[in-house]
Amino acid sequence: MAEIEGQIKDEQLDPEREARRRIALAQIRQYPDAALKLAARPVEEFDDDLRRLAERMKQLMVDANGIGLAATQVGVLQRLFVFQANEDDVVALANPEIVERSDETTVDDEGCLSIQGVLVPVERPTTIAIVGQDENGTDVRYELDEPYSRVAQHETDHLAGVLILDRTTPEARREALGSLRPRIVIG
Ligand SMILES: [Zn+2]
Repeated sequence: MAEIEGQIKDEQLDPEREARRRIALAQIRQYPDAALKLAARPVEEFDDDLRRLAERMKQLMVDANGIGLAATQVGVLQRLFVFQANEDDVVALANPEIVERSDETTVDDEGCLSIQGVLVPVERPTTIAIVGQDENGTDVRYELDEPYSRVAQHETDHLAGVLILDRTTPEARREALGSLRPRIVIG
């Protein structure tokens, strides 16, 4: 099984999958895009538009080799994300609210589909319970353990405009920002 790093699966892809991954990434907002820093609004209408958005996000997430994707990452300021809730199922969760967090925490490296090439350590509660609605407006609740608990917390953060750079150590943040600084290209 591929190693999971925060929002991203780390695995070798064949050329066709790699091409699809690049096309998907081009449709995902990249740091420091302003949309990534904005808080999303609650989902109020569970209509066909919302279901189409959820389907599109699931496809983008899979194509980008991710295990989670928040609406803010595609420039839509609605409290909606999609994620892999277990080994087999990709689900949509609207209006997520973390209602239980374990006292035990785990530190692990996290990547983000919006901050390519960066992996930073993030400490998070190991297990959580999260509630919300699916794309039809039905109430749902997930009890999650690593790595799925980490993904759900990462996505919930996105909906509040919070990134892994805001969650990591000052040293790791400095190093990551250094590697993200645009390079000057002459020619
Ligand atoms: Zn992310």
